[in-house]
Amino acid sequence: ILANLFYDVATRTSSSFTAAMERLGGSVIPINEVRYSSVSKGESLPDTVRTLECYADVVVLRHPEVGSAALAAKYAKKPVINAGDGIGEHPTQALLDSFTIKEELGHIDGLTITMLGDLKYGRTVHSLSRLLSLYKAKLNYVSPEILRMPPEIIDELSVKGVEQAEFNTIAPVLSETDVLYVTRVQKERFADLADYESVAKAYVIDPEIMRSAKDRMIVMHPLPRVTEISLEFDEDPRAAYFRQMEYGLYVRM
Ligand code: ASP
Repeated sequence: ILANLFYDVATRTSSSFTAAMERLGGSVIPINEVRYSSVSKGESLPDTVRTLECYADVVVLRHPEVGSAALAAKYAKKPVINAGDGIGEHPTQALLDSFTIKEELGHIDGLTITMLGDLKYGRTVHSLSRLLSLYKAKLNYVSPEILRMPPEIIDELSVKGVEQAEFNTIAPVLSETDVLYVTRVQKERFADLADYESVAKAYVIDPEIMRSAKDRMIVMHPLPRVTEISLEFDEDPRAAYFRQMEYGLYVRM
């Protein structure tokens, strides 16, 4: 029995964990509307998790605060799976992302992986870059100045000897890229809406721009997509984002 504890909005992650557990023959306690639970009465996260683990064998947690999953795991005796802690990490997404790369391109070592968009608030790229540091991949980070990859992650990967480079535009790196990992600019993370507006449409991947990319490469996205990949590109065989989502189900199983 899986307790699916979601304090934050999620469609894919929540439903894929549910589908994964049900396909394995288990069942799910879905807690999506935390405002209807004891949490809205002021219950702390450690108490909620310690309650749920009396009924469930594993807890999946999505929470708006960085470090929440680590806190829950400290108090819980049963396994806690981090399904996204604010702008922190999204480890199961990183597992399904690396699985996607292997499934689609056969290997990870030797590839050039370009992450594009919101690298500051995008938790998926934080987890993915850390996971990729276990391989011999080259990482390019393309973002507006205010959405750069956090320096602590760049430093952590440098110590491990990962080749990394930062850019403001996609042009210099698109033709060498084997995996283009596009992210959404996360409106909900901006305190100032003007800052969001200034960068929201900075990078749009469309069939025209993709003419300079390799024939054998893939475009990934953790979804949801807003405007950063044009709908016209969806028919291109290199568009791997819906296949990526399906792989996520199997990885979570
Ligand atoms: N679905 C991903 C996440 O939960 C990406 C996103 O929300 O943009 O982090």
